[in-house]
Amino acid sequence: MFLGHVAIGMAAKRAAPRVSLTVLVLAAQLADVIWPALVGLGIEQVAIEPGNTRVTPLNFISYPYSHSLFTLALWSIAFAPVFGLSRGRRAVPILAALVVSHWVLDVITHRPDMPIIPHLGTKLGLGLWNSIPATMAVEFAMYAVGLWIYLTSTRPRDRIGSWGFGVLAAFLVVVYLANVFGPPPPSVSAIWIGALIGAGVMTLWAWWVDRHRTPLER
Ligand SMILES: [Zn+2]
Repeated sequence: MFLGHVAIGMAAKRAAPRVSLTVLVLAAQLADVIWPALVGLGIEQVAIEPGNTRVTPLNFISYPYSHSLFTLALWSIAFAPVFGLSRGRRAVPILAALVVSHWVLDVITHRPDMPIIPHLGTKLGLGLWNSIPATMAVEFAMYAVGLWIYLTSTRPRDRIGSWGFGVLAAFLVVVYLANVFGPPPPSVSAIWIGALIGAGVMTLWAWWVDRHRTPLER
């Protein structure tokens, strides 16, 4: 899942208006930021295997530290206070929930490769990715709702806040569609390097445009 994680982060702006969009999306996507770093370090393993599911050519052989429920709970404890404590009473629990939400959404989409505890027990996955139409329907429905909530929880201060945000929203759709319908990545290095660069670009861009929008305090 990709757009669905971003959507949850956008939607959280209504509940945590003082937290930057970039921190909210980063929380929801934290697992997929830690993952490429650990793949690059050789700690977690992925293989390119076209047809693994209909949506992704990636076989997530092992990712116990970035994608288990147990370690995501630990990551949330590390992440949420650092970015949330100065941002209002609700910010810490919301950020923690966003970090863990990644696991729930990935269990829905992945085949059964999602660990609960590293190296122990059964792995879960409901396999939404076995159907391209169902995946598209779920991801785009979530994205539309997330965008709507963010756009009605903030208002643009200038053109960067309106057009800059609009281009970011469209750019993420293009990246997503290219990932699903484009050719498989040429190498494992291309996967993790591309994922880290993508996360960096998204983080800076979201931080920039969010500063040009004012949250509507309710
Ligand atoms: Zn993930």
